[in-house]
Parts: sequence; C-alpha cells; structure tokens
Amino acid sequence: MAIGVLAFQGSFNEHIAALRRVGVKGVEIRKPEQLENVAALIIPGGESTTMAKLAELNNMFPALREFVKMGKPVWGTCAGLIFLANKVIGQKTGGQELVGGLDCTVHRNFFGSQIQSFEEEIPVPYIADKEGGPLGFRALFIRAPAILEVGSEVEVLAEVPIPDKVKNSDMIKEIQEVNLESVNKVAVAVKQGNLLGTSFHPELTADSRWHLYFIKMVNDLREETMTDTESETSSSIIKAGDLNSLQDTKIELPIYS
Ligand code: GLN
Repeated sequence: MAIGVLAFQGSFNEHIAALRRVGVKGVEIRKPEQLENVAALIIPGGESTTMAKLAELNNMFPALREFVKMGKPVWGTCAGLIFLANKVIGQKTGGQELVGGLDCTVHRNFFGSQIQSFEEEIPVPYIADKEGGPLGFRALFIRAPAILEVGSEVEVLAEVPIPDKVKNSDMIKEIQEVNLESVNKVAVAVKQGNLLGTSFHPELTADSRWHLYFIKMVNDLREETMTDTESETSSSIIKAGDLNSLQDTKIELPIYS
C-alpha cells in the first residue's frame, strides 16, 4: 500500500523523497480515481490559492472531501493545512475552495510574506515521545500559516510564541475573527482523528520523525478498520524502514540537515 501525495503544485516531490527515505512508497495524485489506490494522502505546501484552482479544474474536491469523511489519514503541510481547515482567514479576495474537516481556524499568511520566512528549533514533546529523538525539531516556516483556534476534538501537537514582529504588525490588528490580545502562542501542529496538520515543512528537513509519525497514524487507523483476514496477512500495513538501517540512505537535495 502506498501513500498518495497531491501533486498539482508545491513540494510534492520532496514529500515523495521524504517517504522514500523511510522506505515507504509515495505516489503522485492528480485525478480523483487515483485516491482509490492509496491508504492515505499528504497535501503538500505550496500556494494554496493556486493549488485549489488546479484541484478544482481537475474535479478533485468532492473526492478529497469523501476521502477525509471516510476516515482515511490525511496530512496537510502548510498550504495543505489551509486546505484541511474548516475556517481560513486572510484569504485572497473571493476566497478559495477548501477540503475542510479539521475543526480549526487557520490564518493563511500569519507569519508574514515570503521574505519573512524563517527556520526555528521548536519544541516537539509529543513527537519526541512517540518517535524518540531530541525534544526540538528544526522547523522551516515558508510564508507559513498558523492555527489560531481549535475545536474541542483537536489536539495541539506543537506551538510557537508569536514573534514580536507579527505581534506589532498591522496584519494582526486587522484580524477580527479571533481575539489574539491575550494570546502569546499559536499552534503550528495539530491532530484530529485521521487528520494531521503542520504549518511548517518537515519534508524539507532530514529529520524524518513527522513522516514516521504519519505512517504510524496510517497503520493504527488501518488496524482499527481491518478485517481478520487482512490483519492475519498484515498485507495492508505500511512498513517504514528501521531508522538506524536507513541512516546511510542517500539524502536528495534540497534538504536542510
Ligand atoms: N501561506 C501560503 C498559502 O497561502 C502557504 C505557504 C506554504 O505552503 N509554504 O498558500
């Protein structure tokens, strides 16, 4: 069983390479029927308005919504997180179509424009607990969105302080939908059942823990829904390679290590 990566625009190749680094096959998805052949889906980062237009042109939205509703695991990174959010603020005029399902409010360009992109070591106690490794994760925020509000079913997996530059910006003062006055931190990674969302780009770093965690989510959800025969053969379980044995795997650029 492979993991699909929505491949209209953005960092889909990098996600496929990141999956390959942990020994899992990723396949490009550009047509609704291709979703039938994958166990899970990654919606990559890129530019959400453009990606939404291309997805719409290819009639992907009904199939993507159905995939989410069926309880199949979907991970949205950056623009992909925007796709999954139930509510998005800071959209371009006219807005954009969303897949939805993730009960949260996302601000599309919360951390500023392209030149305000940054990298930061963020605390990831949840991932360190599940996947081992250091408590910090070197996160790349590229014209990144932030998660400003979450519903009661949503678990926050990582958060960051709001940078002073953002706190003092006109953009933040113009946000009316959410009261951010007393808030010092925003969420940058969340999980709700079969859905995972991250504001940053783990596919651009050599640290594979988010991909390994998503694969674990895929297998856990599949085990819950598998028939006895399927679980006896365990044919539909995705096996990630052992990280130690994968350490010598060639890392394709561009990767931040
Ligand atoms: N903020 C961007 C958007 O609106 C997403 C940026 C990214 O995916 N790196 O699409």
